[in-house]
Amino acid sequence: MRLELYGWNDGFAAAFAEHSRAGRVPGRIVLEHTHIYRVATEAGEPLARVSGRLRHRAQARGDFPAVGDWVALEPVDTGEARIHAVLPRFSRFSRRAAGDATEEQIVAANIDTVFLIGGLDGDFNPRRIERYLVVAWESGATPVVVLNKADLVPDPARHVAEVEAVAPGVSVHAVSARVPESLEVLRRYLGIGRTAALLGSSGVGKSTIVNRLVGFDLLRTQDVRITDSRGRHTSTARQMVLLEAGGVLIDTPGMRELQLWDSGDALGDAFADIDELAVSCRFRDCRHSNEPGCAVRAAVADGTLATIRFDSYQKLAAERDHQAKQLDARAMLEEKRRAKVMGRALNKHLKDKGAK
Ligand code: GDP
Ligand code: ZN
Repeated sequence: MRLELYGWNDGFAAAFAEHSRAGRVPGRIVLEHTHIYRVATEAGEPLARVSGRLRHRAQARGDFPAVGDWVALEPVDTGEARIHAVLPRFSRFSRRAAGDATEEQIVAANIDTVFLIGGLDGDFNPRRIERYLVVAWESGATPVVVLNKADLVPDPARHVAEVEAVAPGVSVHAVSARVPESLEVLRRYLGIGRTAALLGSSGVGKSTIVNRLVGFDLLRTQDVRITDSRGRHTSTARQMVLLEAGGVLIDTPGMRELQLWDSGDALGDAFADIDELAVSCRFRDCRHSNEPGCAVRAAVADGTLATIRFDSYQKLAAERDHQAKQLDARAMLEEKRRAKVMGRALNKHLKDKGAK
């Protein structure tokens, strides 16, 4: 298998040079299943686990490999290969790790194009697409909005225009998974070595589109059998495939369930009335507590805005701020820890040099 088909390029090759000297081979993760991975390499697709050293050095969940990552493998003739390093990612989608509100967990990496799928049935919601766009831009992937179920509306172009208005510079396409030819436009983003993934709420037609592009249902195809350390068998689907016509498609349960990292915009969405009032506050960053010229408090005072609604808004806003602070605090700790480790390494280096 030529790795270029999977997106290998000069950039990754350069990042891999040091690993190459250590006798390792490159590969791309096509499946992740509780600590075990399947990796596409030039010579087959071994199962692999993270090396003890990588696990030890990893400072956060985000340092572990995810689907789409390029890794340095220690080749094996039989048994499981060892993943020694994860190459730097050019894009990444993440979510909060389960049980830890502040830790980032990567759900997919090195995606060129992310198709933001929306449905043109009752689900159509430009505000939600706006929020997904924020997530997409943050990831480093290029978003493309796909309005599916165009067969259900008389004038899809109207909806395309509506989305284009809130998504400057982003391509917007109306398609119907029921009309296969209409999906051909998506192949434009799937040339050889180009990786795409789908994002969107449940029911918008992601499976149907994947089926059409791939020729089968990725997530429902249980084509990999894994025996875990306790001898139990499970079957797991591959989460990344090469398309016959060129390109790579990633479809993982994690991507499908992706929640928004920051509920900041979600809050504005749920309280559009307050957002609207806030436009008239004297200060753009008014927190509606005791700033002069606050239009929101004025609305509460004159009864235009129900006190109970304003209260619940404030409660949610406080929660969001608290969460943001936690994230900041964690980032700072992480920074300190890194500085300490670096400092120690430097001291040791200087001492070793002095001793010689
Ligand atoms: P997912 O949850 O995003 O993976 O959505 P599915 O692919 O499971 O689709 C949800 C429902 O929408 C299914 O009943 C599909 O048959 C239907 N559906 C998907 N694409 C289209 C479309 O283009 N037009 C119409 N009318 N229905 C569609
Ligand atoms: Zn205000």
